[in-house]
Amino acid sequence: MKEVTHILIVEDDEDDYVLTKDCLDELSGYSFKLFWVTHHTLALRELQTGHYDLCLLDYRLGEIDGLSILQEATSQQITTPIVMLTGQSDEQLDQMALEAGAQDFIIKSDLSSPRFDRAIRYALSRKEIQQEKLERQKAEEDNRSKDRFIAHLSHELRTPLTSILGYTEMLLESEMHKYASSELNIILNNGQHLLNLLNDVLDLSKITADKLELKATKVDLGELLSDVYSLMNMSALDNGLMLSITSATPLPEKIIIDATRFRQILINLISNAIKFTKEGSVKVELSLVDATQTPTMLVKVTDTGIGIGQDKLVDIFRPFEQVEDIVTRKEEGAGLGLAISSELINRMGGEISVTSKQDFGSCFTIRLKLQVEESAPNKHLDIHLSKKYQQDTDKPKLIGDVLIVDDLVDIRSLTGHLVQTTGANVEFAENGLEALNKIIERSQSKPEFSLVIMDLHMPMMNGREAIIAIRKQGFTGRIIAMTATLQQSIKPELIQLGFDDVLAKPIDKKILWGSLSKYLTNNSVTAPPNVTLLAETSNPNNLELTQTKTCLLVEDDSDSAQLMSLLLAKLNIKTTLVKDGRSCIRSMKERNHWNLILIDIGLPDMNGLDLVKKLREQKISGEIVILSGEEPDRSILSQLKVRRSILKPVSMNVLKKITSTLT
Ligand code: ADP
Repeated sequence: MKEVTHILIVEDDEDDYVLTKDCLDELSGYSFKLFWVTHHTLALRELQTGHYDLCLLDYRLGEIDGLSILQEATSQQITTPIVMLTGQSDEQLDQMALEAGAQDFIIKSDLSSPRFDRAIRYALSRKEIQQEKLERQKAEEDNRSKDRFIAHLSHELRTPLTSILGYTEMLLESEMHKYASSELNIILNNGQHLLNLLNDVLDLSKITADKLELKATKVDLGELLSDVYSLMNMSALDNGLMLSITSATPLPEKIIIDATRFRQILINLISNAIKFTKEGSVKVELSLVDATQTPTMLVKVTDTGIGIGQDKLVDIFRPFEQVEDIVTRKEEGAGLGLAISSELINRMGGEISVTSKQDFGSCFTIRLKLQVEESAPNKHLDIHLSKKYQQDTDKPKLIGDVLIVDDLVDIRSLTGHLVQTTGANVEFAENGLEALNKIIERSQSKPEFSLVIMDLHMPMMNGREAIIAIRKQGFTGRIIAMTATLQQSIKPELIQLGFDDVLAKPIDKKILWGSLSKYLTNNSVTAPPNVTLLAETSNPNNLELTQTKTCLLVEDDSDSAQLMSLLLAKLNIKTTLVKDGRSCIRSMKERNHWNLILIDIGLPDMNGLDLVKKLREQKISGEIVILSGEEPDRSILSQLKVRRSILKPVSMNVLKKITSTLT
């Protein structure tokens, strides 16, 4: 159907109006709706409505001429295009009308000629262009205010989050952690997850507002990949997967790139590959193509995971796009990682593509033009340490104070975490200078560090400069260097400088623990104090005596489930946890009475409300309460005979209210 074009005709002579109308009717391709006024005040009032696509304005309107209406309309910033109609040709008038803002000027005797047809079409298409421009400006302005809003909101949220994370970490490091380490770790993990989400949202808003600046510096490629491997290998192993990073062709040792962003992209692709792969491997393969002309690096991240359907392949690079349904999906994430990565790659002048086969795996390929050091030779790379799944059984039990020195926060905390799991205490420094200061500070009050683990590549003061300064201070403790530069010749040089040992990057858990056992005191007799509040309260022997009521909790988020069990235990209710709908139905077949059945609405295998429907068919007894992130539809709840629902986050008070009326 043709869109209707609204035309205002301002004409005090009826014959001329009819003539104009007839000529307009003759024009093909339009469906006009005409509105006729004879008086200038009415003409202005109509124009002010902004309702018209075009105005045909007679020059002679009784005592007033069309020119003054035109001037008035222009001064009121009316955007409707106006075409002036006049009885005779007058070049001077023509000029004045155009200067006053008319779109065109037509003599009435030309009304039935092609000149009229052209004038109308031209005026209308100008109007469309103007309209598009206005809409574009508005969309840009909307985008800008949205970006300002997101940036402001993210900031406002990050500030309190910083305190939450900071104080939690402080408590975990203090004596207090013995009483609530499990709860504190839950706060820390969830806080960090929230912070990651916020960082992603902020990144995306910076990218869309064109505010993201890339900082390209000279980067040691092997070093960067080793760090990425160290970080990702832990979660690969936790998921029983093999991770490898190899090169198919020799690669430049140093490249010029924004290292932080390049790491971010690699981590996003590898963590997705791990997240969506149940068994098999994740392989990262780098190669150099067109090595002579403009060297281009290809990075392929291939997994043997669930794959992506062909219809979804294009969408996954858009923000918030996820293949699975948001309610039933099992994996964490907001669907921002790939959108950010692909934008970052575009900004680096590269591109990302994906091929995938459902149930067989995916392959993401980055193609990046490289800036390289002219003189440096290319080298082969092979980062592939884990031959098999490593069990934690080799973890030693140790005591001692270890200083970890690395400029990368995630590598610092990864090394810290691995050291801490042995029972040793950990302190951190971001560079050689900070390490030196910490060592001097300690020498004045406490016993010196039992061990220092130090990266070689750091800003401010690198590892080589730091070891000289530290040894000069008289520090006699052990110092291990960490480096991805695997040349044999490097070790004697480092020992000569004052290091006791050299550990290769990427960090290998077993090798690190081996070294720690060599340099720290064994503590296998005393078990690390790790009695948590939850362990005490959820001990079945303790609970059986006092807890009389029972609850079946259907919740897939383990942190939230743990918290709920703890709160319910305090209310003398014994909780049994199942993580999905099918397990709930199975448990109900074995035992169909619980005082309370708490069901999360977003379960991995079905919607919580569908589960309630199935349970009703099974005729179970006990009160069903729905847990949800937003208010569920009351009418659906009443159809399902669910009297109450709880809005997350769950508080003790709400649970108290619900459980006080249980029968
Ligand atoms: P997130 O992982 O946080 O949801 P991403 O933008 O990184 O966000 O990924 C978007 C979606 O693309 C994922 O939710 C997933 O559905 C799909 N996806 C990404 N990588 C893979 C992969 N390697 N295998 C299967 N699906 C993937």
